[in-house]
Amino acid sequence: MIRSICVFCGSSSGASPAYEVAARAFAQAVAERGIRVVYGGASVGLMGATADAVLRAGGEVVGVIPRALVDREIAHGGLTQLHVVDTMHERKAMMAELSDAFVALPGGLGTLEELFEVWTWGMLGLHSKPYGVLDVDGYYSPLIHFLDHACDEGFIRPAQRAMLAVDRDATRLLDKLVSR
Ligand code: AMP
Repeated sequence: MIRSICVFCGSSSGASPAYEVAARAFAQAVAERGIRVVYGGASVGLMGATADAVLRAGGEVVGVIPRALVDREIAHGGLTQLHVVDTMHERKAMMAELSDAFVALPGGLGTLEELFEVWTWGMLGLHSKPYGVLDVDGYYSPLIHFLDHACDEGFIRPAQRAMLAVDRDATRLLDKLVSR
């Protein structure tokens, strides 16, 4: 059962308004299921848009932000709960501990790093929580193609590749995570 979902996403909003629209739709779908959101605690970019949309829909949002980023990413002032931690590593560990599943919305290097860490931790058996990406307007398609290429070339095992749920639709993605 997924009670809390960890959301990784951009501290930027992206080049197209479609990204924020999709982040808000995802937030709405999560809040409607009564699932709490755990995220990086920022008020900027897709991170802020997602948190705002969950709160507006009556859902709960827990932020985890390192002290050093409180000003840079402008810590969200209206969250259900905000944990200020000392390091980036503590942030990721706490976000993982507090969550039953992980989703990456579109984002940049931070988002990718967080997604791949969760994936590799799963691969190593450090957790057995489901994870996936919301492929908004095909944003992640080049990455998915590369992962298939890495599979074909014998660097990623098909079973590892299959662990990542991918969908363009928030509701379908949540259904996939619940069924894993
Ligand atoms: P980005 O996807 O690059 O916009 O970053 C999204 C979030 O990931 C932001 O809250 C960043 O602070 C965070 N982030 C950036 N680099 C890292 C990293 N190496 N490890 C964990 N989180 C990071």
